[in-house]
Amino acid sequence: PVDLAIVTGAASGIGRETAWQLGRSGYFVGAVDIDAEGLEEFSRKAHADGLSAGIFLADVSDDTATNRIFSHVATLKKPLAALVNAAAICIFANPEDISLDQWDRVLSVNLRSVWLMSNKARPFMVESGRGSIVNISSVHAWATDHLVSPYTASKGGISALTRALAIAWGKSGVRVNAVLPGPIDTPLMRANLRAVGDEEAEYAKLSASLALGRAGQPVEIANVIDFLCSAK
Ligand code: NAP
Repeated sequence: PVDLAIVTGAASGIGRETAWQLGRSGYFVGAVDIDAEGLEEFSRKAHADGLSAGIFLADVSDDTATNRIFSHVATLKKPLAALVNAAAICIFANPEDISLDQWDRVLSVNLRSVWLMSNKARPFMVESGRGSIVNISSVHAWATDHLVSPYTASKGGISALTRALAIAWGKSGVRVNAVLPGPIDTPLMRANLRAVGDEEAEYAKLSASLALGRAGQPVEIANVIDFLCSAK
């Protein structure tokens, strides 16, 4: 049977491009997101392009919702070869202005989700003796700015959790890696630019500060993730 790859955050940006790329690489893609419209759009385009994909509307920070995802996976009878944890949100405010609810929401969506999804994927991967989990951390795990403190904390947590899971599960054939992108041109990056000023002016400033003179494109990260999923 065709291998299954689950991608969270698959309705937009890096997750959507990754879901697409994995579909082109021959996986059956399970596209998970909280954005129903974006998922439908992904599904229409994937099927028009001859890719095999199913969509799953779920909040990846929710224990019950993630249980439903994996109950469905069990019915598919396809080896779960890859899980890409790409869903994330960001709240732009100074640390002292972040509410408790905002802190909890960002940490839940970005970090608890990785723990929930990875833990629930693990038995399927152990059963087939192989599997690759790719978590999207961020350059913010290392170097950040003043407006994104819960996001930064969540990304530092993802990098650390990735190391812990890689050590815990490696001997059972489950590989766990993280990618740490710099600025990538997606709706999330655009929201970040608008949070600090005029979008186009901020994009010009950002580009000038980057080695390539531009932000990255989602496909450049999707290609790296496809490689990390592919190695046996
Ligand atoms: P994006 O375009 O905003 O895509 C993220 C997707 O995740 C959106 O469709 C979003 O839906 C969805 N999502 C949000 N909360 C969710 C939840 N609770 N359950 C399920 N799905 C949820 O962002 P992106 O830039 O592609 O980011 C993808 C990943 O790359 C994230 O982990 C991000 O932190 C990381 N990253 C991005 C950059 C960058 O510069 N873009 C750099 C480094 C790392 P809604 O739109 O409805 O919220």
